[in-house]
Amino acid sequence: MDDQEDDVTTGDLRAVLFGPPGAGKGTQAARLAERYGVPHIATGDIFRANVNGGTDLGREAKRYMDEGELVPDDVVIGMVADRVEDSGEAGFLLDGFPRTTPQAEALEGLLDDLGRPLDIVLHFRIDDDEVVRRIAGRRVCVDCGATYHVEHDVPEEEGVCDRCGGDVILRDDDREDVVRNRLDVYREETEPLAEFYGERGLLVEVDAVGDPDAITERATEAITSVRDGDTAA
Ligand code: AMP
Repeated sequence: MDDQEDDVTTGDLRAVLFGPPGAGKGTQAARLAERYGVPHIATGDIFRANVNGGTDLGREAKRYMDEGELVPDDVVIGMVADRVEDSGEAGFLLDGFPRTTPQAEALEGLLDDLGRPLDIVLHFRIDDDEVVRRIAGRRVCVDCGATYHVEHDVPEEEGVCDRCGGDVILRDDDREDVVRNRLDVYREETEPLAEFYGERGLLVEVDAVGDPDAITERATEAITSVRDGDTAA
């Protein structure tokens, strides 16, 4: 615990995090969810858990994920709505949802019905070349999920996980061609959300390049300023 946590009112934050693949959203979302005591709802993680568990949802999602395409809106919206409703008064931190305007509209309708509007939308910014460098160099252990990077975090024995001895591989959706496609899809489908949320006065831009602790700090400051009643835009 650091001293910053003392002034945090837990469990009443409703936030969305979005940004291109490789912006470090997952890491930051997990930290912020813990700090504010709210559930971290990460659609990509939910899909991956379903793929690993061999469920029908996983089988359907995998076809899209392996190509860097988005899973259809109706599938994602139904899945998130259940979790947001279950989160009750606890609030939530949404990571990777919404990713399209129809998803954002569906979320807005759901939260209006529940009488629990969003507090803030954090937009993580980073440029494409940095994204490709980060993701296409990433390697993961198929058994324990440990992550490595070809430039600065290689396993002692090539292709073998230091932690569990499992195979360390390039994930299908981390291949450079797939990453480039994910970035195109991001520009086309997801980036317009900046305007959508900007118009609603909910958007805050966060520079996602640099030391992860500094990025958490930037995001926390943005949340604090919104809670103190400053306008987010
Ligand atoms: P992520 O881990 O957030 O990068 O998500 C991995 C993959 O899951 C994406 O490339 C999409 O195929 C799928 N996915 C995750 N969230 C969504 C969403 N909100 N809408 C559509 N597809 C999604």
